[in-house]
Amino acid sequence: MATQKSSQLEQVHADNNDHLIRSSDSQHPANLIPALCSKFWTLGWVTGTGGGTSIRDDDLVYLAPSGVQKELMKPEDIYVLALSQQKDPKSRVYLRSPPSLKPSQCTPLFIAAFTKRNAGCCIHTHSQWAVLVTLLLEKRSSKTTLFEINNIEQIKGIGKGYKKQGSLGYHDTLRIPVIENTPHEEDLTESLEQAMDKYPDTYAVLVRRHGIYVWGETVHKAKTQTESLDYIFQLAIEMEKLGLSWLSDIS
Ligand SMILES: [Zn+2]
Repeated sequence: MATQKSSQLEQVHADNNDHLIRSSDSQHPANLIPALCSKFWTLGWVTGTGGGTSIRDDDLVYLAPSGVQKELMKPEDIYVLALSQQKDPKSRVYLRSPPSLKPSQCTPLFIAAFTKRNAGCCIHTHSQWAVLVTLLLEKRSSKTTLFEINNIEQIKGIGKGYKKQGSLGYHDTLRIPVIENTPHEEDLTESLEQAMDKYPDTYAVLVRRHGIYVWGETVHKAKTQTESLDYIFQLAIEMEKLGLSWLSDIS
C-alpha cells in the first residue's frame, strides 16, 4: 500500500503536474500570461526580463518565472501554486515548477493582491512613465508618497475601489500611493501591503525609481487599468514639462 502511494507521488513529481499548463484554450492562464507579456514587452513594460504578470483562477495562481525574456516566454515556463497551500512565505509550495528556472521575486507581491484584494490578475511593469512620475514626486519632496490627478477623461478607466461598483468619473481625483524601492523586490511586500491598507480603494501602487503594480478583479480589468494608468503617467510627464498642473478645479 505504502509502495503504491509513494509510486503515485513519484508519478505526480515526474510529470510535474504539467496538465496544469497544457490547454488549447487561448484564455487559459498558462497561454494568456506569455501572450500578454509579449504585448507588454512591445510597450517597454517588461524590458530586459523585468516586470511580470500573474493570473489567479480560483485557488490556483499562475506566475511568470524570474529572469526569462518576457516576449519569448512559453506555457512550460509558468509556475503554478495553490493559494490555500501557502502557510509560510519563506518556504513556498508549488504545484508545478519549470525545471531550471527560478520563481519570480514578485511572487509575494502578486499574492498580496490576490489575498488582500481578491484580485484575479496582477501586472507589474517597469514602465518609464511610472518611474518618471515617482522621480517628479521625489523632486518635489522625498516625502511625497501620493500621485494625484483629476479632470482627465482616461481616469474613467480606473475602478472606484475594492468592492465598489463602477469606475471613477472625469472630475474624480485619481490617487496612487508611492512606496520606496528596496534592493530585493520581495522586500517590497510589507510596504505594498501597508499602502493597500492606507488606500483601500487603490488598484495600483507605484514603486519609487522602479515601476508599478496594478491589479484587477479580472485579467481584462487589470490590463485596462494598467493601460489607463500608463497613459495618464505619460500625460502627467508632458503636463509637467509644459508647466501644467495635475490638479485643477474644473467642476
Ligand atoms: Zn520589478
